[in-house]
Amino acid sequence: MSVINVPRPASMQDPDLQIFEDSARRFFADHATPEAVTRWRANGQVDIELWGKAAKAGLLMVSAPEEYGGGGGDFRHDVILQELASRMGVEGFGFTLQNVIVGGYILSHGTEEQKRRWLPRLAEGKLICAIAMTEPNTGSDLQAIRTSARKEGGHYRINGTKTFISNGLQANLICVVASTDPGAGSRGLSLLMVETENTPGFERGQPLKKIGTHAQDTAELFFSDAIVPIDNLLGGVEGKAFPQLMKELARERLMVAVTGVGSIELALEDTIAYVKERSVFGQKIFDFQNTQFKLAECKTEATIAKVFVYHCLERALAGELDTATASMAKLWVSEAQGRIVDQCLQFFGGYGYMEEYRIARLYTDARVQRIYGGANEIMKMLIARTL
Ligand SMILES: Cc1cc2nc3c(=O)[nH]c(=O)nc-3n(C[C@H](O)[C@H](O)[C@H](O)COP(=O)(O)OP(=O)(O)OC[C@H]3O[C@@H](n4cnc5c(N)ncnc54)[C@H](O)[C@@H]3O)c2cc1C
Repeated sequence: MSVINVPRPASMQDPDLQIFEDSARRFFADHATPEAVTRWRANGQVDIELWGKAAKAGLLMVSAPEEYGGGGGDFRHDVILQELASRMGVEGFGFTLQNVIVGGYILSHGTEEQKRRWLPRLAEGKLICAIAMTEPNTGSDLQAIRTSARKEGGHYRINGTKTFISNGLQANLICVVASTDPGAGSRGLSLLMVETENTPGFERGQPLKKIGTHAQDTAELFFSDAIVPIDNLLGGVEGKAFPQLMKELARERLMVAVTGVGSIELALEDTIAYVKERSVFGQKIFDFQNTQFKLAECKTEATIAKVFVYHCLERALAGELDTATASMAKLWVSEAQGRIVDQCLQFFGGYGYMEEYRIARLYTDARVQRIYGGANEIMKMLIARTL
């Protein structure tokens, strides 16, 4: 029973979804144990075997059609999986990048041949995905991307550097945003799928040292005269990256908000348990009116966040989630997450600053939510365009 009393929308009240959720819960309980997560944090990445195990449990490409090896589910399954992982404190497992983001690009924009070539292996966990947009000199301004892909006969020659790439160390199928027509700005950008095992000229950097999300691998990627077959141009037509990315971004941003709500719930649960347990000045921390008022405010904000996320989910399921509304969800929930987790940590006193306490990790992990998936200032720009 969650501390936030917001029922799922009617469209999510489905016995099959419940069965899926129960089996995913068992999977995370068995495989993302506190010991495993501690190991992933120390290694800066999850165990690579986790992907194969998740595939066997039916958790990869769960919303892709069965004809492509997927689970035959829909976006509700993706949301349930991410919600659950965040609620259970599963750190570092970038399955949403696979299932929703890169898998989504292939499903929506790949040619039939590309779907058949990659999607079944994504579902089997044999391919692990990453999306490489950001470069050392540009993140928010995608039009300024410098990585180039020059066509030469039957292949592209890619040159450039990407940074902050999630799953960057483990991925063996990387969706790279590159310019195939340097003079054309955003109209010259294309998505090239790099199968790393057959790509000379591709290298990974060291794991990047971050202030949070320590179990998630994040790396720099280098392309120097990396050769990629022409058949790996997603959709087979150059210059389409911008519309391809834009079409999928609403769901990606909603997933940032879904993650945020799950983390907020976990933070509140941990905090309520802690303040009811620990005594100071001869009374439980919970008994101070300050604690109750602050936590009442947090619970109210958390409730608003969850209601809004479910509203966006309903719109996404109806195919009506627009860019501005998804941006509002990403913006508002990630800001609320920052405020709430910060307040929760305060009630732990010094223990809240100790990494062994989950609240400390929820605090550092929350920070990036306002930055990735498009910085929150970019969200405001997108919302402002609709005024
Ligand atoms: C842990 C982590 C994981 C990531 N994973 C990935 C990944 O898998 N793939 C990937 O491609 N990228 C990834 N990123 C990169 C992330 O998407 C970028 O960091 C983000 O888009 C911001 O780009 P930037 O860092 O270049 O900041 P910049 O673009 O330099 O912006 C810096 C700041 O300037 C301000 N700003 C920028 N533009 C405007 C504007 N128009 N108006 C007002 N203010 C503005 C904002 O405050 C912004 O935060 C990840 C980043 C992190 C930290």
